Amino acid sequence: MTSTDAPHLDRPHADHPIALEFPATIAVIGGGPIGLEATLYGRFLGYEVTLFEQGEVAENVRQWQHTPMWTPFQLLHSRLGRLAIETQNPAQRFPEPLQEISAREWLESYVLPLAGTDLITKSLRTRHRVLSVGRCHYAKQQVIANETRWQDGFVVVWQDAEGNEHSDTFDFVIDASGTFHQQQSWGVGGSMALGESRLRSARVQDPELGAALHVTAPDFAKDPGHWENSGVLVIGDSPAAAQAVTQWLQLEGRGSLVWAVPQTLGPDGLYPTMSPDPLPARAKLFAAANEAVMKSHRPSRMDTTSDGKTLVTPARGQVTTLVNTNLTAIHWDSEQKRFRVRLLQWFEVDWDAAPDDYEEPDDLEINLEFEQVIVAVGHSVEESWSRELIVPRCAQSEALLSFVGPLSEFQGDRLDFKFADPRWMLTPEGRFFVLGAKSFGRLPNYFYRLGLQQVREAYRWIVGRATLDLEQTLCG
Ligand SMILES: Cc1cc2nc3c(=O)[nH]c(=O)nc-3n(C[C@H](O)[C@H](O)[C@H](O)COP(=O)(O)OP(=O)(O)OC[C@H]3O[C@@H](n4cnc5c(N)ncnc54)[C@H](O)[C@@H]3O)c2cc1C
Repeated sequence: MTSTDAPHLDRPHADHPIALEFPATIAVIGGGPIGLEATLYGRFLGYEVTLFEQGEVAENVRQWQHTPMWTPFQLLHSRLGRLAIETQNPAQRFPEPLQEISAREWLESYVLPLAGTDLITKSLRTRHRVLSVGRCHYAKQQVIANETRWQDGFVVVWQDAEGNEHSDTFDFVIDASGTFHQQQSWGVGGSMALGESRLRSARVQDPELGAALHVTAPDFAKDPGHWENSGVLVIGDSPAAAQAVTQWLQLEGRGSLVWAVPQTLGPDGLYPTMSPDPLPARAKLFAAANEAVMKSHRPSRMDTTSDGKTLVTPARGQVTTLVNTNLTAIHWDSEQKRFRVRLLQWFEVDWDAAPDDYEEPDDLEINLEFEQVIVAVGHSVEESWSRELIVPRCAQSEALLSFVGPLSEFQGDRLDFKFADPRWMLTPEGRFFVLGAKSFGRLPNYFYRLGLQQVREAYRWIVGRATLDLEQTLCG
């Protein structure tokens, strides 16, 4: 979208038709850290805000609370949030600004106290899952982005804890619903592996399966005995895979681990490194994971048997890395309490160097059994409840189209990116904003401080004042 085909983008904040002074109503979808910050900002400004959270407060962060954060505490809170907490509870203690903390410490010292402040508790509706959001009068195809559409309200439909459905109308909607709960598929090329769909639903009902199938890096310290002598499969190349493998290597009495990595290794390993890395926790994790992968990476076709099947015999206490390898099928044997999996390894061919009569080798099928499977393939955007809204996204990264260009071109660590142009925050829906992890789609390195900038920029449009900066005004 450019300013030429979207004339509303050229209007300054003050006379922009989307702005509405209070009293106006705002629905915030997602009670994660950014949804809480967006709610606080709106409540400080006097808007009537309703915050919908499908689970408990910060439901997604709770799933990975045992994970060390990469950024120090000073990049994990807003001054406005701290002010709200201190006003209510002057005894509240915060980590030091440069302190490295775990996600659990983040939750306990900041996120949950923030959710407990008066300004937020009045707005917060936990166990309220949003089912759909649309304009009050126009479906997607009816009125394309113009003032008529922008000034129409939104209908939000949600389900409460008892399963009852409700709806109400709002002037603005802020989507801060994250991506963590929307795991990418586990199979080849991002498609489903055979058996995946069944396991996804069964793991919720079957506690034994649920304890053996992990959809992010597990908390090994919680029950180290659970992992003793276990055969473990890690699928994927996300930072959660690095976390899982390096933490597993710390376990006493560990069994064996096969790491199925869906790509070819670079000269340093799997994860990009920066020298020096401004985030020591990230540098440490990636260095340890790269070391593990380089040590354990097996040359392809090593254990091929005469019938063409590959036999990998994972070594006790060690990682076996299979590169260019994807999951194709997975089955849970509920009697043996084991997974039977089929992996497929492909071979990279240098076609420039290959002779004319060279034949591409077949993919290798690898059949193995494991007691534990850790899926760490990354997350994607769920749009089912907002499909009646016009929200253009990059087809590849699923990040918002309005800023994916500048974001991709940005040289350097994404931590330092700035939302320099207010127009990057606008969608063709005008009064609908997407903030936080979801606005970045599948792009790696979304940082909390970027979400805080987005909150400020969104409220500049909502209020219609380009210089609005509540933190500056209230916290100096
Ligand atoms: C393992 C890991 C480590 C990270 N480390 C760092 C770090 O060190 N530093 C940093 O700056 N960032 C880090 N991040 C980025 C991190 O995602 C953000 O900092 C933050 O958690 C994202 O906040 P969010 O509010 O955008 O999304 P989320 O935390 O994902 O919150 C979204 C919320 O929306 C709710 N929701 C979803 N759909 C609905 C619905 N239909 N109705 C109602 N509610 C709904 C979910 O239940 C959830 O509570 C890390 C991320 C991960 C996964």
